[in-house]
Amino acid sequence: MPYTEDRTTWYEGQGLWSDIPEDQWKDWTWQLRNRITTLEQLEERMTLAAEEREGCRHANQKLAMAITPYFFNLIDRDDPDCPVRKQVIPRAGEMEVSAEEMLDPVGEDSHSPVPGLVHRYPDRVLFLVTDRCAAYCRYCTRSRLVSNAQDYNFHPEFEQGLAYIESHPEVRDVLLSGGDPLLLSDKKLDYLLGRLRQIPHVEFIRIGSRIPVFMPQRITEGLCDVFRKHGPIWMSIHVNHPKECTAELKDACERLSFAGVPLGNQSVLIKDVNDDTDVMKSLIHRLLRMRVRPYYIYQCDLITGSAHLRASVCKGLEIIKSLRGHTTGYAVPQYVIDAPGGGGKVPINPQYIAKIDDDAIHFRNFEGKLYRYPLKSFTIDDDCRCAEKEIEC
Ligand SMILES: *Cc1c(COP(=O)(O)O)cnc(C)c1O
Repeated sequence: MPYTEDRTTWYEGQGLWSDIPEDQWKDWTWQLRNRITTLEQLEERMTLAAEEREGCRHANQKLAMAITPYFFNLIDRDDPDCPVRKQVIPRAGEMEVSAEEMLDPVGEDSHSPVPGLVHRYPDRVLFLVTDRCAAYCRYCTRSRLVSNAQDYNFHPEFEQGLAYIESHPEVRDVLLSGGDPLLLSDKKLDYLLGRLRQIPHVEFIRIGSRIPVFMPQRITEGLCDVFRKHGPIWMSIHVNHPKECTAELKDACERLSFAGVPLGNQSVLIKDVNDDTDVMKSLIHRLLRMRVRPYYIYQCDLITGSAHLRASVCKGLEIIKSLRGHTTGYAVPQYVIDAPGGGGKVPINPQYIAKIDDDAIHFRNFEGKLYRYPLKSFTIDDDCRCAEKEIEC
């Protein structure tokens, strides 16, 4: 069924937990303590499909299950195909491993000079500061270490990581991730951000977090004060479907924005969740309304047991084609594949260039009409002339 955009409703409320006092519901530690983590807790609240029951039985050997009450409310319990449900409830497919899948699909461990720090690009590092999240995405690219279901025994080494960054003046950009950095206490974050700010060559600090989406209650004024104190801190959140854009998330994004935190969004393209032009268009429009700039759409990494969740690359291209030129430029994210084995993120774009010859570059606009821009007055090198062939999907 085609997805119809709902422009007016921002879901809010305590749903299944309406008997809980509001101050508890709004307390993020209550949300954490009351997460759904077992098959039994899940079955008390909804009827599962056989493949979900099977998935839950095995989750603790792969990636733990955890769903905050807030996020659980976003699941349509009567719809086995609910796009929110598929992101957090394990299914049997997780136990099926195909030949192309890997435990470390983007080769992070081989680019890790000290435990918990990935230095792949010349000027920036990925700093993994915890192995825990508020809830677990079933397609997690770091499931080898996140939640510790696979006994990886990751222990974040703040001091080793900080020492590495201090001694590498080429590192101007530090990305805190994990796990989810916003699970750390305000005090720990204050310490970490303070230490990073003391390093003169670190110009840019950002945090990758899905906590605003899983547990917007975590975005307290106290946390916002930490960001104000050490700002500018940038943040990438992770919203996959317009159903996740609730009144609570909108408020959390507003608090972050007003604390001076520029917000971007990273979506993962997931089969039957958001591999659809109407769903994506609705999502990015909602993001803009929440002050969030769509940043990346990721092709799903080849993580073990993800075949049932991975959407096709042609769908990704079709989505970008349907957006660029057809809606606000700010709303259009960059579609990327994180190259299997460790090549980094590579932009994957629809083919707009038709031909480059000595006279002109010939290209198509968003309507498919052909245009040309003369090149007579420029030198054209071979790299440029050799335009790629038309891709057919
Ligand atoms: C994604 C990523 C970054 C940040 O990449 P940007 O394109 O700058 O957002 C940095 N390091 C690693 C290892 C990454 O995977």
